[in-house]
Amino acid sequence: MTHLSCSHCPGPAVYLDRVSGEHLCEEHLCLRVEATVRRTIVAAGGFRRGERIVVAFSGGKDSSVLLHLLATVFRPENALELVAVTIDEGIAGYRDETVRAARELAARLEVPHRVVSFEEAFSRGLDDLLSGRETRACTVCGVLRRRLLQQAARELGADRLSTGHCLDDEAEAVVMNWLRGDLHRVTGARPSGGEGLLVPRLKPLAGLSEKEVVSYALLRDLAFDLPECPYTRHALRAGVRGMVHRAEFSAPGTLGRIVGGQRALEERLDGLLPDASFSTCPDCGEPVLGTICRACKLLDSPRDNH
Ligand SMILES: [Zn+2]
Ligand SMILES: [Zn+2]
Repeated sequence: MTHLSCSHCPGPAVYLDRVSGEHLCEEHLCLRVEATVRRTIVAAGGFRRGERIVVAFSGGKDSSVLLHLLATVFRPENALELVAVTIDEGIAGYRDETVRAARELAARLEVPHRVVSFEEAFSRGLDDLLSGRETRACTVCGVLRRRLLQQAARELGADRLSTGHCLDDEAEAVVMNWLRGDLHRVTGARPSGGEGLLVPRLKPLAGLSEKEVVSYALLRDLAFDLPECPYTRHALRAGVRGMVHRAEFSAPGTLGRIVGGQRALEERLDGLLPDASFSTCPDCGEPVLGTICRACKLLDSPRDNH
């Protein structure tokens, strides 16, 4: 096997960027990752000095990379106040270990850490909430997890809620919206009236491919060997992920084009569609689009098939 050197220095390459064709050494890969994250944050308006950021921190690779970058690079620069929040969904044989890993990393990075459980909030863990509708696990879990993250961010007085979504997640979400025929999300309609009700989100890793995130995690000693969520095999997302990854493999750059195309579509449609606006859920008082609060609906009618 020939040893390739980095496209930017004589060091040995550890990474091939299949989009640009560049080979990168450890140092240049880390620099690339950090520069991409910085660009994404700047495009989202940058950090205000002393801003309080709640970080959605599952303890997995993506959110570990996110917390590491915020704590070691952006906190010192901007005097950020970080709080990591882990949602314990109550998934047997999966969450205990990842919560432990999350606690350890938060302590190592000196970031205050909160764990919020489905059990406390909904008096039932996900396993109980699901019984009979396992195929919808990710939908149920996602709706309830987002609800708890928003609540935690609001209670902690966060200026923004930061999540570890990467480019692959963003591309998958675009494809899933089309596959579900979710016209509302496909058109990127931004509802009005959410100001002050919803803590704005920030996705610093949205410009990085999963491959870059995982490589960075390995190089920074953030890749723990953790169990995988037992419900992922049921998800539509698993199929979409395979499809999107095969497309990226045969045509490098596909991920970026899916997300770029979606953004372009949203810009074109901006202002052309009737405004959707938030109202308040009569049951829980949270902001909702339309009249049905998905969280209350899921909690109230465990067998509904919507
Ligand atoms: Zn190099
Ligand atoms: Zn509600």
